[in-house]
Amino acid sequence: MPSADQIWQAALGELELQITRPNFNTWLKGTRGLSWASSDFTVGVSSAFVAEYLETNQLSLIERTLSRLTGEHTRASFKVMSSNRNENCSNTSPDTCINHRFNPRYTFESFITGPSNELACAAAMGAARGPGKLYNPLFIYGGVGLGKTHLMHAIGHVAEKNNLQAIYVSGEQFTNEFVCALKSNNIEEFRSRYRSVDILMVDDIQFISGKGQTEECFFHTFNELHNGSRQIVVSSDRPPRDMSLIEDRLRSRFEWGLTVDIKPPNLETRKAILKHKARREKAEVSEEVIDLLASKDRNNIRELEGSLNRIFAYSRLLDAEVTPELAERAITDIGSHPVGNGSMSADSVIRCVAQAFSLEISELSGPRRDKTTALARQVAMYLLKINQNYPLEKIGGLLGGRRPATVSHACEKLSRELDSNPPLKRQVEAIQDRLTGPELS
Ligand code: ADP
Ligand code: MG
Repeated sequence: MPSADQIWQAALGELELQITRPNFNTWLKGTRGLSWASSDFTVGVSSAFVAEYLETNQLSLIERTLSRLTGEHTRASFKVMSSNRNENCSNTSPDTCINHRFNPRYTFESFITGPSNELACAAAMGAARGPGKLYNPLFIYGGVGLGKTHLMHAIGHVAEKNNLQAIYVSGEQFTNEFVCALKSNNIEEFRSRYRSVDILMVDDIQFISGKGQTEECFFHTFNELHNGSRQIVVSSDRPPRDMSLIEDRLRSRFEWGLTVDIKPPNLETRKAILKHKARREKAEVSEEVIDLLASKDRNNIRELEGSLNRIFAYSRLLDAEVTPELAERAITDIGSHPVGNGSMSADSVIRCVAQAFSLEISELSGPRRDKTTALARQVAMYLLKINQNYPLEKIGGLLGGRRPATVSHACEKLSRELDSNPPLKRQVEAIQDRLTGPELS
């Protein structure tokens, strides 16, 4: 009988094909199969943060993969391998792995510029080369998958080269760590960790909006760093003026420095990004295939990359060349998001999603937070956003008065999940098809 780790290594081989390389490297690389008994499989991971990410984002994909390999229905759980952590509040211990490691692929060299993002890129370079000198803070905003995180990591790499201390955290992580520090009376330690850096980068800062104490803590951290001429870089899915902040003083702080946006890339830029990526993968991809892809995915570079990855995976699996036919098949099998005509009602979206997940409509707007209900709610939010383009406030209102930041977070999370989870993607598309189909529109 194969050992747990042998099975897990085989599973990693399959998972590698199904999720993007940066994701794989960040979350799955270095994980181990620890045990496998009576259909429970334990995976060893390096930190509680990784465990939580895998648990919420990749569980179904991992379980399906393991079930296939073991030939029986298998449940997966994650265990932190190193044991020298504070078990109750593992988030408080500064995880150097997470805070200070920058994705090696996210550099300025690999960032393709065009009219949609060149200002943001130049500003990020400025902040990286002369931190605290030029624009402080630097506020970068734009839609999902347009390169905000990429630019922040790029700043981190330059800082590292210059022996400067740069910390990168997501707004979510900042909040979690703050809450943990609060619970365990470690606020001083928490604050001093951030106080001593040369560059503080907080990604997706919208996540802290509406969280009073976290906002306040960030406000103080901001002031201390700013007074000491340390560089602050924040990203958000919306400009400062559209953020619903309890600390109104924070908004004006955000507007002190430079605010730049990133827009969806034009056709030329999309093509340049695809070519760059193909070169990096040392893959031959014809102009025709590049054109085909660039013309389909318009508003999200992550999805653009995802479609190229799917084509590579297909070509490997079928051991076939990347022809336009193969490309067409690879992307239509899974498909890109159909664009709705906007005529369907919010009601029908919610009804359809509830039905697809065998839930009552009231459960979607209710308080339940079990996995199925939470996922269904995310799907509903996501479909309302891409189809109706409703403001986040309105979507939150339709689904039980949830906060805009929650909605935005849910949409972003689902959009990532769709990239790595083809069955879920098919399921969401089936709902979408029903919505745009003749019987409902
Ligand atoms: P965001 O943080 O805005 O949601 P990311 O920074 O995560 O977006 O970018 C999504 C993906 O697209 C990443 O893999 C990133 O490397 C890639 N990407 C985004 N913009 C560019 C660009 N201008 N050139 C090359 N790759 C890009
Ligand atoms: Mg991001």
